[in-house]
Parts: sequence; C-alpha cells; structure tokens
Amino acid sequence: SPVVGVLALQGDVREHLTALASAGAVARPVRRPGELAEVDGLVLPGGESTTMSKLAVLFGLLEPLRERVAAGMPVYGTCAGMILLADEILDPRSGQETVGGIDMVVRRNAFGRQNESFEAAVDVAAVPGGPVEGLFIRAPWVESVGARAEVLAEYDGHVVAVRQRNALATSFHPELTGDHRLHALFADMVRAVN
Ligand code: GLN
Repeated sequence: SPVVGVLALQGDVREHLTALASAGAVARPVRRPGELAEVDGLVLPGGESTTMSKLAVLFGLLEPLRERVAAGMPVYGTCAGMILLADEILDPRSGQETVGGIDMVVRRNAFGRQNESFEAAVDVAAVPGGPVEGLFIRAPWVESVGARAEVLAEYDGHVVAVRQRNALATSFHPELTGDHRLHALFADMVRAVN
C-alpha cells in the first residue's frame, strides 16, 4: 500500500488519517522534513491557510513541500489545503505563502460571506457513483483556472474541485463525511506513480 502523509501542523488531520486508512492507504502525520521525505503522497488538510503556511515556514517545511510537489509527488488539498495548492491567492493575508502546484487563483472565504457553513450535493467528474456530499466551511472557491488545470466540479457557478497532473484540490471536506470516494481517487493517484 502507498504511504500517504497528512500535513499535521494545524487543521483536521485526524479525520484525513481515518479517511485515508478507509480508502486503503497507510496514513501518517507529517511534521518534519524527514517525515515528508518518507511519504509517497501528501494531504494538506482543512483548517486555516495563513496559520498553516506560517507554521510550515517555522517547521522548515515550506521549501521542501514546494520542491516535492513540483517534482510530482501526489498531493490533495481540502479547503485551506486547496488554498495552499493555488499558484495565486486573490486576497492573501500578510505573511501568507502558498505551496503552489495548481495553475489557479483562489478566493479565500468566498462562500463564507453568505453562509458560514453548508452542505450540498456536488457532482465530481472523476468520481463515479453519483454526487458527493459537499461540506463547505468558510470555503474558498476557484476564481479562475489556467490551461493546465482541469475543472472537476462546480457548485452554484463556481469551481470547487480541480486537478492538475499530481495535484487534486476541493473547496469542500470529504474527510468530515462518511463518503471517502475522493480519498480513494487520491489513493489511486498515489498508486499510479509509486
Ligand atoms: N477559510 C479558511 C482559510 O482561509 C479555510 C477554511 C477551512 O479549511 N474549512 O484557510
């Protein structure tokens, strides 16, 4: 089985570890560059993207993360994790860095202005078997995507799931529902390159 890490600086780490295990992956938390070097793929969890990026700098992980993602390590970001995978953030807070990897511009807290939190059925192109239960919590949306990025889902006219080569990102949180089809898709992406 592929070994999939979850960036464990802040956010809903435990829920991703559980979801990955139920999708058949060996899952472990990643806090140090040495731990990052040992995983075949990595999840960037939901949480708070500015805090996570500042902690990544403090833990000496930001550059190693950028290097591994650019080198093709499979990576999946949910919500705050999606923001970290964006090549550009529309409204970054001061000191907010991104890992990058997906040719897209994201808008932070985009859905949060109307609703703090909501659920909606979302059809995801790469996920068979019907719509997934999308849980949106102060969620970003994708303002624009470049030619290299593939839109996998839209909700209410906004892009909420994207894939580019080794990188997958969703505005919503499958780790907080019982539906682990996106984690299974990601585990397949990890198996495909390992
Ligand atoms: N609004 C948060 C951010 O800017 C993301 C929220 C989430 O991950 N649920 O990082």
